[in-house]
Amino acid sequence: MIKVKKRKILLLPGDGIGPEVILEVKKIINWFNDKKSLDFEIDQELVGGCSYDKHGTPITDEVFYKALESEVIMLGAVGGPTWDNLEFSKKPERALLKLRKELKLFANLRPAICFKQLVDASTLKPEVVSGLDIMIVRELTGGIYFGEPRGIKPIENGERKGINTHTYTTSEITRVARVAFDLARKRSNKVTSCEKSNVMEAGQLWKEEVKELHEKEYKDVELSHMLADNCAMQLLRNPKQFDVIVTDNLFGDMLSDQASMLTGSLGLLPSASLGAKNKDGEMRAMYEPIHGSAPDIAGQGIANPIASILSFAMALRYSLDLDKEADVLEKAVQDVLNDGLRTKDIMSEGMKETSTSAMGDAIISKLQ
Ligand code: NAD
Repeated sequence: MIKVKKRKILLLPGDGIGPEVILEVKKIINWFNDKKSLDFEIDQELVGGCSYDKHGTPITDEVFYKALESEVIMLGAVGGPTWDNLEFSKKPERALLKLRKELKLFANLRPAICFKQLVDASTLKPEVVSGLDIMIVRELTGGIYFGEPRGIKPIENGERKGINTHTYTTSEITRVARVAFDLARKRSNKVTSCEKSNVMEAGQLWKEEVKELHEKEYKDVELSHMLADNCAMQLLRNPKQFDVIVTDNLFGDMLSDQASMLTGSLGLLPSASLGAKNKDGEMRAMYEPIHGSAPDIAGQGIANPIASILSFAMALRYSLDLDKEADVLEKAVQDVLNDGLRTKDIMSEGMKETSTSAMGDAIISKLQ
């Protein structure tokens, strides 16, 4: 069994704008090492399309083992049109799925925060989204994306049948619900659990297990249950009613994308995928911006690095037990936005347009 090495950070920049935004994260990690005498050990490797180009596979065994022994993985993004026509097993995204599955990263945390400086970037009215701060906890390694049987098979009369199976067990539900309750205790102490218990047995089990765990261990947290379709509607109607939302893999995929777009800007939102703690309290985790590799702007030096930098702030908070440093980094980002600095994707009248690296430098100067 491969041990997790404390404070080891593996950078996997990936494709497209991935290397550009992860470079800014690297500068910040180096700043913490130099100025705050933190002892992060950084390593960097290829993953995704660039790994396929060099090694014929989206992730080599060597890189996979390095990921296994790293406390934190910082991923940029993978994929792009160059690799769209590769066979399924060679596609860049297979590397991500392998990492999530083999590292057992079952809890995906996606904050949707509406920065007050950017409230106009949302398609919703400012009063609906201003001050928005939701955390969506999506189950990431179970449910219909992994359930068996699955496949496409021929049936009578020349038709074909596509099959996927939606399954959840008690332990799969309770471990992710526990993450949500623990997070809520550090926030506004409210959890909304979403499923389709009205039409799906797995949804009924989800609701029962969350309820039971709440009764046994988390009575101090306010819990409500909501049907996932209603949650989609409520996210548009009155998103500020939510604090932490916990839901399964499929509904979480959709609800978290919907919630992130309430804030109007892909280049600002971080995410974390957390595994279980072992008996020594060690946990594997991968942090990444929610955006993709943005091939349309790659190589131009205009990508917004804030989503990746805030992903590192999440790593400081959730993996490295450095809450104070996370606060400082998040505040530096806010300060830079207050100064009117904007990358092209969030540029508006009267603001100062800046490049990827100048944005990173400005954030570092606020850390000083
Ligand atoms: P995308 O997120 O890459 O881009 C969508 C739009 O947002 C583009 O116009 C892009 O320029 C812009 N954008 C995204 N991030 C930005 C940033 N940091 N700064 C400024 N603008 C930004 O989504 P897409 O175009 O659907 O996908 C492109 C590729 O990325 C595809 O190959 C897809 O499979 C892959 N992808 C990877 C991940 C991942 O690695 N986790 C996630 C989503 C998509």
